[in-house]
Amino acid sequence: MGPAALLPVLQDLSNAMSDLAGQNASRLGVQLSCRAGCGACCRQAVPITPVEARVLAGLLDALPRERQKTLRERFRQAAARLEESGVAQAVRGLQQGNGTATAHEVGLEYFALGIPCPFLEEERCTIHEIRPLRCREYLVSSPAEKCSHPGTREVVGILPPVMLSRILGRWDTNGDAQPPELILLTMLEEWVARHPAGEDRPHRTAPEMLQEFLRGFARDAPAAPADPRTKQPPNLLPERSDV
Ligand code: SF4
Repeated sequence: MGPAALLPVLQDLSNAMSDLAGQNASRLGVQLSCRAGCGACCRQAVPITPVEARVLAGLLDALPRERQKTLRERFRQAAARLEESGVAQAVRGLQQGNGTATAHEVGLEYFALGIPCPFLEEERCTIHEIRPLRCREYLVSSPAEKCSHPGTREVVGILPPVMLSRILGRWDTNGDAQPPELILLTMLEEWVARHPAGEDRPHRTAPEMLQEFLRGFARDAPAAPADPRTKQPPNLLPERSDV
């Protein structure tokens, strides 16, 4: 099987991790402020894993023609804006490990462009059930309006106990052999054009996949802080030292 077959399980598990983070925060007297209808974080650079890229590309392909046209136009406009502004180049620098800006800096430059996620409509996610793991992991306890100013350090993040997006990213590329590939949701179409489906990792048996997943889980779990609060604004783009 390929990792796409297990993605729904990881999505459920990711929801459970977010619930757990909320419960842990609540025990410390802190409440999550994330609510439906607030899409400030949907203007951040959202990294997705290759399997999520394939699933979302498949979703786009299967949509009725008019809907597909609308979404593809949003992707096109987002990609053009990223190219014009030089942010796409900075993202490639992060991907290739030869850029001069840190992930945090690139994340802020990206946010400053104000590009909404193509799937955001009326500040709601139109693919909520299958949204990327990273979207599920972005949780804050600070007032929602602070999320419109991520560079001010007034955004207080809540970390889930385990970042399943990290595990899936490694799992999906080449296990531990290389850092996860950085793919931005808004640059999905570019990634799909450069990576034909035939290049994906060969499928593995279910026990092999489970073993890989558990290895990743064990590696990330001990890093979970007892106190999930972080004063660092949640930065969606991982630094290379952090993957
Ligand atoms: S996929 Fe949904 S939750 Fe994620 S950035 Fe886009 S609109 Fe927001």
